[in-house]
Formats: sequence, structure tokens, C-alpha cells
Amino acid sequence: MIVEPKVRGFICTTAHAAGCRENVRQQIEYVKAQPKCGGCKNVLVIGASTGYGLASRITAAFSAGAKTIGIMFEKPSNGKKTASAGWYNTAAFEEFAADEGLYAKSINGDAFSQAVKEETIELIRKDWGSVDMVVYSLAAPRRTLPDGETVSSVLKTTKEAYTNKTIDLANRTVVPVTIEPATQEEIDHTVKVMGGEDWKDWICALSKAGVLAENAVTMAYTYIGPELTHPMYYHGSIGAAKDHLYRTAKEMTKEFAECGLKAYVSVNKALVTQASSAIPVVPLYTAILYKIMKQMGLQEGCIEQMYRLFAQKLLKEPPVTDGECMLRVDDWELRSDVQEKVSEAWEKITTENLDELADVDGYWEEFYRMFGFGLPNVDYSADIDVDVPIASIAE
Ligand code: NAD
Repeated sequence: MIVEPKVRGFICTTAHAAGCRENVRQQIEYVKAQPKCGGCKNVLVIGASTGYGLASRITAAFSAGAKTIGIMFEKPSNGKKTASAGWYNTAAFEEFAADEGLYAKSINGDAFSQAVKEETIELIRKDWGSVDMVVYSLAAPRRTLPDGETVSSVLKTTKEAYTNKTIDLANRTVVPVTIEPATQEEIDHTVKVMGGEDWKDWICALSKAGVLAENAVTMAYTYIGPELTHPMYYHGSIGAAKDHLYRTAKEMTKEFAECGLKAYVSVNKALVTQASSAIPVVPLYTAILYKIMKQMGLQEGCIEQMYRLFAQKLLKEPPVTDGECMLRVDDWELRSDVQEKVSEAWEKITTENLDELADVDGYWEEFYRMFGFGLPNVDYSADIDVDVPIASIAE
């Protein structure tokens, strides 16, 4: 099949197998060109197939030499339609890991479910004995609770309606947007999906099964951002979930003190990922931020962020925290010289000066790249097999 991008709203419904493979290969090459980081052996990554989770898995494996198990919720191809990008990324990750003799297995299923937790525990018990690092990088739109009810997360503000600018990416225009506040029920559901409850369920399940190593480390990801995005993010429904995540980290470190578990939350930079493109206001902010950080030589993508997190924060002895349980790799984004320039551009930006003040081309480039399109070294006119197996799942 000759595969082309089909973009609908915030999502591309096709993915290019060879392009995704190339995207993974380039991320691996990046970490291999950096000094090695050590300090983790058996790493479980929950949400391992795209974005920050994939970059964490690549760093753990190809920089620290860790064995990895990755959990994801992706679609294989049915022979007619392409698989999802995360499926192809994982197939490529396992292929490159095997080339270097690195253990890599993946489980495709709903991470919120008991069944996937049990399958993972069995695999850890059989292959490793215990896990010493758990990265929780889920970005999910919904969660089915143990009683069968399905709750959804929303990307809304809280308290009162919020009006600001946003970008209409398809038409490349700056348009006003008003976001209605989430109801209390919507906030509660967002906390259920994106807060710390399921993260803690994983840690409790691993501990109860006796497969959590002594002095293990666990880490989840959050975003804070500048005041400009606070009504949509930090003080929005997603921010309420992230606050819960943070409190869960502190709670877990206390509750599991006897086995030496340390739980961290890493505050990462705003990036184009499948999850972040859907948040109103944030993509315009991100496009401006890209322009400024590129001009200042400070721009990082998922892999640069995750390598810096592992090498310079998490795996340092002791880890470089804010004094509590936060690791900050949003430090460059939040530098005052960066944010002053962002605020200036934000005040002035309109459809007419959009390309001058924001990196919309760069935004689109990364968007397409997530689905394996627009990469150099890939022949997009070639007829490719869309049905690509993931080695450990095909077994
Ligand atoms: P992403 O959409 O690229 O990745 C999400 C991952 O979760 C994928 O591997 C997907 O398969 C998996 N997943 C989703 N639902 C699942 C389910 N039910 N069961 C199993 N796996 C499931 O997202 P991302 O942007 O990399 O986000 C990861 C984390 O980083 C999130 O907590 C997010 O809030 C945080 N973060 C993102 C940004 C950003 O700008 N993108 C910034 C800071 C922090």
C-alpha cells in the first residue's frame, strides 16, 4: 500500500510504518551519541508507544542498557488499514533492541484493567523476578473503572468561562476561543482518568505480588507551564488531575518507605504529542514557544527531554529534585528570558503575523512526524506492507 497522511482535526488516521521506524531509529541514535547513563536494570513503562513514554523507554534501553517491558493501547493493522503509530513505533523499538541484544517485550491492552496488570506481573515474575523502575506515562481520554463504568477526561477550565486566543491549525488562523468551565463531575472524572489512582494501583499490585524490587523508583509526568496557559492547564480540569498525581507521589513514597520506594513527578516541557494537540490555547502557545526556543538554541523534543531527565536528574545520586518529589526538565521553557519573549509575541500575535511570531511549520512538521510522515530517508512513494508484527506479541 502507498500510505498517505489523512488528518482529521487533532488526529491523523493513518501512520507510515517505515516513517515510524525511522523516527524511532533517530531517537535511538540521539541517545547513543550521548554519554551513557546507568542506574536502572528492569524498567516497566506504562504508556510506552508514543511521546514521552516511548522516549523514556528508548533512553532506559539504549542509554542505561535496561531491559524494558512496555504497556500500550494501540491498533494493529487489519491488512487494509494501517496500524496506529504507536504500534509501528513499538515494532521498530523491539527490532532495534533485539539487534543490540536488549530484552524488550510489550503488552497491548488497557493499562487501567486488572487483566493487564496481572499479565504484566506474570511476565515480570517469569522473566525478571522484579522491576526496579516504573515509568507511568499514560495519556488517556477515558478509563473503565472496576465496576464497569467508563469515565472520560475533559480539557476544560474550571470556575468560570475563559476566553483567549487559539490557533486553528488547519486554516493557519488565530481565532478567539471561549472554554466553558468543567462541571464538578467532569473534574472528578478527569482526576479518575489522569490523576494518580491508577498509578498507585499499579505500584500496589506490583508490591503485593512481590515483584517490586527494594529501593525501586517510580515516576509520572506532568506539565505546569507559564501563567498564560494556567487557566487551561494548571488550573484546568487536567491540572486538578495532575495535582492528584503529585499528591499520590508523596503518598506512595511515605506508604512504601519500608521497601525504599521513591516516587517522583517530572515536570516536562510543552511538546506536540497526540495528547497535547487537543488542548485549546496550548498549541498556539507551543508554536510560539518553538519559535523562541529554536532561536535561542534551547529547543528540545521528547527524546532530548527524556535523556536530560534520566541523565541529569533522575539517575543522579541523589536525584536532582525541587527538594520534594519533583524533577524539573521544564526549566528551559520557564526561563524568564524565554517567557518574556513568549508574552510579547502572545500580545501581538494575529493571523497576519502568525508565521513571523510562531513556528507553525515546525508544529506541523512534528505533528506529521508523530505518524511517521515527512521524515528524511523514507521513500513515501514506495508500496509498503502495512501489516507489521511486534516481535514479542507475535510470539
Ligand atoms: P501520548 O499520547 O504520546 O502517549 C500516551 C501513551 O499512553 C501511549 O503509549 C498510549 O498507547 C498509552 N495509552 C493511552 N491509553 C492507554 C490505556 N488505556 N492503556 C494502555 N496504554 C494507554 O502522550 P504524551 O504527551 O507523551 O503524554 C504522556 C504523559 O506526559 C502524560 O501524563 C502527559 O500529561 C505528560 N506531559 C505531556 C506534555 C506534552 O506537552 N505533551 C508535557 C508535559 C507532560
